[in-house]
Amino acid sequence: MTNRVVSDRDLSVLWHPCTQMKDHETFPIIPIKKGSGVWLEDFEGNRYLDAISSWWVNLFGHSNPAINAAIKEQLDTLEHVILAGFTHEAAVSLAEKLVEITPRGLSRCFYADNGSSAVEVALKMSFHYWRNLGQTQKTKFITLENSYHGETLGALAVGNVALYKETYGPLLMDVITVPGPDCYYREPGESWENYCIRRFSLMEAILERHADTTCAVIVEPLVQCAGNMRMYDPVYLKLLREACNKYNVHLIADEIAVGFGRTGSLFACEQAAITPDFICLSKGLTGGYLPLSAVLTTDQVYQAFYDDYQKLTAFLHSHSYTGNALACRASLATIAIFQQQNIIEKNKKLAEAMAKAAARFSEHPQVAEVRQTGMILAIELVKNKQTREPYPWQERRGLRVYQYALSKGVLLRPLGNVIYFMPPYVVTEDEIWLIADVAWAGIQLAVQD
Ligand code: PMP
Repeated sequence: MTNRVVSDRDLSVLWHPCTQMKDHETFPIIPIKKGSGVWLEDFEGNRYLDAISSWWVNLFGHSNPAINAAIKEQLDTLEHVILAGFTHEAAVSLAEKLVEITPRGLSRCFYADNGSSAVEVALKMSFHYWRNLGQTQKTKFITLENSYHGETLGALAVGNVALYKETYGPLLMDVITVPGPDCYYREPGESWENYCIRRFSLMEAILERHADTTCAVIVEPLVQCAGNMRMYDPVYLKLLREACNKYNVHLIADEIAVGFGRTGSLFACEQAAITPDFICLSKGLTGGYLPLSAVLTTDQVYQAFYDDYQKLTAFLHSHSYTGNALACRASLATIAIFQQQNIIEKNKKLAEAMAKAAARFSEHPQVAEVRQTGMILAIELVKNKQTREPYPWQERRGLRVYQYALSKGVLLRPLGNVIYFMPPYVVTEDEIWLIADVAWAGIQLAVQD
């Protein structure tokens, strides 16, 4: 089997996600035969360092022996069972574990099978909670500019990245979109904290005006990942939690991308010492192995649904693969690695190495900003460093970096003109330097005209 054979077969039957398929008339698709640690290998032995953790899901490497073993063991016992009326040990253990490790006060775990579905669950649960309490006027959601929460219609509606949303606008529910705390736009010399405090007044004003009709505010804590890895200070979450309490509105924390250590703490909300009313988890939840998501919520929310069947207050949302046993087992093995190997502490060193390896990018004439939160580092390419005028998107500069990096054995997949490093936690310091060197050379090439 060669790369060519697999890619020809692929391109005659597959339709790939987030892809203009015509691009593959010019760019080859990369068929991967196997993976080990941070490395992926194609059918001809070429290796690629997975610097973006395969869309931010992989935490402890491909074919991780401990996770493999856990899945294999589960496979010989039970692969899957309906989770309505039935349960299994892996689903129970994982729910117990998630209640233990997520912010205090989240005591109920509802499973779904991908990130977007978790967001749908949280939105519906919040709306339904208020309805069960007789507050049927609460039908709206507040979201931040530049947010991303997935691509099913409800999740897309509460997102704000035009590239994904605009086309489907006529299909989407109305939401209230608030200018966000994205620190890229702070004044020169202004701290992230001060900027976020200043920007919060916009949220406060909207909450004050719309609280009566609003179910929840939904945010991606600390990093808006799909929105070009834009970052903000924990103080914004702290203020938001206080305001949501004051105005009687739920807070939904979408930690699908930032959960499980990405921002430097196990969950991003910890850095603001807050407990949201709902936390959405997926991606790293299974170490990047299998589709699974979970929404954790409070006893207060749970109790609002708990009544005699005839009252019709139950949450009847369901997905066939809810709480899949193999996925739950992969997740338990993943969480065990965090605990056994003190990963959050170890990642501090890796994050420092990322900062060091990327330090020189700040001086680059086409780089407006290098920003970092924990294990996420982003480099913003611009046409004009002084004015921050972006490159026209049509020029696809980021794509040039992508192609160059692949030719050097590194998988970087820029978001527009933002190059970012989001490697699995088993990456070594040498590999971090390799990623940075390749990104540097790729940028040199991409900014030539
Ligand atoms: N929320 C956030 C913050 C995400 O980053 C993503 C995926 N990129 C999603 C939701 C959607 O998850 P999924 O792709 O599994 O539907």
